[in-house]
Amino acid sequence: MSCSSASAAIRPADALPDEEEDPGTTMRALVKSADGPGLTLDTARPIPGGGKPVANDVLIRVTHAGICGTDRHIWEWDDWARGRVPVGIVTGHEFVGVVEKIGPAVTTVETGWRVSAEGHITSGHDYNSRTGNAHIARDMQIIGVDRDGCFADYIMMPESNVWRVHDSIPDRVAAVMDPLGNAVHTVMEAQVSAKSVLITGVGMIGLMAVTVARAAGAARIFVVDVNPKRLELAKRLGADEAFDGRQSTEEMIREIQRATRGEGADVLLEMSGAEAAIDAGFSALRNGGTAAMLGLSARPITLNLNKHVIFKGAKVLGINGRQMFQTWYQMEDLLLAGRVELDEIITHEMALEEYERAFGLMESGEALKIVLKIGGV
Ligand code: ZN
Repeated sequence: MSCSSASAAIRPADALPDEEEDPGTTMRALVKSADGPGLTLDTARPIPGGGKPVANDVLIRVTHAGICGTDRHIWEWDDWARGRVPVGIVTGHEFVGVVEKIGPAVTTVETGWRVSAEGHITSGHDYNSRTGNAHIARDMQIIGVDRDGCFADYIMMPESNVWRVHDSIPDRVAAVMDPLGNAVHTVMEAQVSAKSVLITGVGMIGLMAVTVARAAGAARIFVVDVNPKRLELAKRLGADEAFDGRQSTEEMIREIQRATRGEGADVLLEMSGAEAAIDAGFSALRNGGTAAMLGLSARPITLNLNKHVIFKGAKVLGINGRQMFQTWYQMEDLLLAGRVELDEIITHEMALEEYERAFGLMESGEALKIVLKIGGV
């Protein structure tokens, strides 16, 4: 079923009279153009809705967009991406931009506003949408995953998903509120205050989780990763102990137990999606602890349920997206209070045309968060 009026707003290219003579109807867009690895820069993609929002839709001119681990799954075209992402869509889901045009029924958004948007779109009618959990609605679609996204000059969004960005939050930070929201949602769901926390995988969201967990009052923060540079950064952001995942897992588990009265960590924030790290993370979790799972696995993995969940009495939380819009308010408050530190996590700002180099930098581990500067057409 259609999830919003925006979902039907993309017109086929042949509806345009002459793209060459009418550059105002097309835009640049990074498209998943074929059933295989990579993305294509389409320089003549029709602007969503022909540039004319209907009903409650809002046309946003994208100025900055963040590249996410999810985009890397789509770039590499692993099992998860192949099973979910339709070929032909515009990719990207983290952005900030300026409202260019509003539909005739829009009442709460104005043209010229600097905005980001919640990328989970629903019709708002199912059980979860009506009970405060729209981010996991049955008909939920994610921009850049299930439908056209933001690696483009323009994106169309429903009015109810638009988030006005506070003037004092810079573009490079506003562009990554989506993943920061993942980190905030994970940390808040797991309730880390005055608890010992193990974060498995300190890529971009894992590092955000370090700074957010610190702001949320975690008593001790342990991190594990296979990248020494990231471990160093995690310590600068507030991790108490950093473990190199290439070394002995048993030693890490013993160290964490030693630091927690022999019990293990109260909370596991799983940000890696890697089978070995998940196994080690659960091994280091105390009995009755809470595991919040955010990292996506490239393919189905094996987990020892008996040992890690059932006999342990562990509480396991699946974390998807952000609470709409509680997480956004929490994020804004944390950012305005200067309680989360993103400067070192956003490592690169690059032009849209440099996307191939950008994904290369992500794959090599050299880059953490890359923000694409998109600008206008
Ligand atoms: Zn993301």
